[in-house]
Amino acid sequence: MELYDFLEFEPFNRLRELMGTDQLGQFELFDPDRHLTGDERSVLARQGLQLPRSMLGRLLDHCLCYKNSRVAIVDEDTLHLANCDQFPDRDQYRVGTSEQAFDAPTVVCSACLQVLNYQGYDEQKARKEYYNRQVLQQFSLEAFWSDYVPYPLNRDREKVKPIDRSEGVEGPPTSNPIG
Ligand SMILES: [Zn+2]
Repeated sequence: MELYDFLEFEPFNRLRELMGTDQLGQFELFDPDRHLTGDERSVLARQGLQLPRSMLGRLLDHCLCYKNSRVAIVDEDTLHLANCDQFPDRDQYRVGTSEQAFDAPTVVCSACLQVLNYQGYDEQKARKEYYNRQVLQQFSLEAFWSDYVPYPLNRDREKVKPIDRSEGVEGPPTSNPIG
């Protein structure tokens, strides 16, 4: 009997493409402590979740994550995407992955855009003032996720650190020293 080479089986290749796996063997065993269930994903997108600080993490690119998904949090009406230096100090956060998950209209946090250097956003450069304002005003979470693919993160490979307290206990401050 001749074994079929599934790497040349078009429907499977198309399926892999749709799943966004460009490499073979990129599989993680499902672990409910580290991987979102389908239900959690839809709740994050629709209603949002109230989560304790300890459940959130930050990735090396500063983005916030919950299990194997990038997430955003809303504090009052400010949308945070990263563990920025304005990150609110709370025990619980309202977490979601879409605008729909946050009841009120939100304004994106400029400190987050700064720490991510999102679309070249940079408040340190005076000549960028007008440009920065545009990035801020035109911000949409949906567009953000096309730059920072939210899901699925590979939790076997990603380094995830706890959210810093505002007073930043570890490491030197990231802002430039004065003088
Ligand atoms: Zn922020």
